[in-house]
Amino acid sequence: MKETAAVSRVPLENYAELLGAGEIEELRALAKPLRGRRIEMINSTAVGGGVAEILNRLIPLAEELDLSIQWDVLRGAEDFFDVTKAFHNALHGEAYHANPKNFEIFLAYNEQNRATLPLDAEFVVIHDPQPAALIDARPAGSNHWVWRCHIDLSHPNLAVWDFLEKFVSRYDGAMFSSPQFARQLSIPQYLFYPAIDPLSEKNIQLDSDFIDETLRRYQIDVARPILTQISRFDRLKDPVGVIRAYRIVKRYFDCQLVLAGGGAPDDPEGALVLKEVLREAGHDPDIKILELPAWAPLEVNALQRASTIVVQKSLREGFGLTVSEALWKKKPVVASAVGGIPSQIIHKHTGLLAHSVEGTAYQIRFLLSHPEIAAKLGENGHQHVKENFLITQKLKRYLSLLLMLDRRI
Ligand code: UDP
Repeated sequence: MKETAAVSRVPLENYAELLGAGEIEELRALAKPLRGRRIEMINSTAVGGGVAEILNRLIPLAEELDLSIQWDVLRGAEDFFDVTKAFHNALHGEAYHANPKNFEIFLAYNEQNRATLPLDAEFVVIHDPQPAALIDARPAGSNHWVWRCHIDLSHPNLAVWDFLEKFVSRYDGAMFSSPQFARQLSIPQYLFYPAIDPLSEKNIQLDSDFIDETLRRYQIDVARPILTQISRFDRLKDPVGVIRAYRIVKRYFDCQLVLAGGGAPDDPEGALVLKEVLREAGHDPDIKILELPAWAPLEVNALQRASTIVVQKSLREGFGLTVSEALWKKKPVVASAVGGIPSQIIHKHTGLLAHSVEGTAYQIRFLLSHPEIAAKLGENGHQHVKENFLITQKLKRYLSLLLMLDRRI
């Protein structure tokens, strides 16, 4: 059974109101030939992190189009997620000591899951490395399999990538979030941007009363600037670096810092990183470290909307959905120039990019002293997300790919 999020369905007409009838007509036309054909999506967590966030919205939207789509989560125990988190870090470029036992654990869990997952669907979409070896269950030439990679593969640790590539190269195609992540592969590669749902609880408009109430609950002062980073407590999100940047800014502005993060069942390092963050924060009453439940979309929405500036100081990043979420809310964003972030932050147009603690602090100070520029960046950012990173566009891209795969045999 999947630990599910309580997702609300949104009628297609509501998207038509926001994005125009044409957008929905295109979706309907692409969906029509795929009705009645089974589409299976598999990842490794139902809540927590960007992939679950997207699937939680993509599936109900596809169902609104009468598609037979199902989402299942790979089951694993602690030893599996320890291995896959180490793989994740290694694929993002971290040093890794290859231990044959780890590869065995990875393969054993994939094999166990093959017995229970419905891998005979006509289209199987596998998300990220954790379930990549499920491809072993594919009878040759029987159905279509694609691999959707959400992580930055530009400088992978080769011990892990060489192992993974043997599976990836047996798919019909691979989808990456940025052109820089493409690898030398024998299969076709596609650029697939992640996307946000403007009508989800994470992104809908909120009453100012609810926002104020949220701030009160977390003892955040409405009267002073609020800098916010929303992220799982993960070293690659550099929460400690955010605190260091805040400390520099604090010498010049009486501001507050909110670091809010929940966990994800497939990320075993959260508790340890949270400890490091608490140690770094010390006793500063203006640093609020909020441990959110893995599924708390309205709280995240309220915190993003209440922020003066949203920060995403990642050291590595697949895409960084939190950036698009903040831009959609017209927030000025200061973010690291890593992974998929520069697709979202066009420097000095939709936000500001930085490369270090000092750079992050510098850009925050600049925005705090130029509120009119900050507001303009937020406006431009909203438009950029509307044009490029919304869930309807993403579903269209999926449907086009499935139709294309279908014609190929
Ligand atoms: N998120 C959340 N609660 C948290 C931390 C993150 O709901 O405490 C959400 C965040 O709003 C975004 C997603 O999880 O939708 C994180 O996606 P992103 O691509 O930024 O990072 P990932 O966690 O996938 O590396």
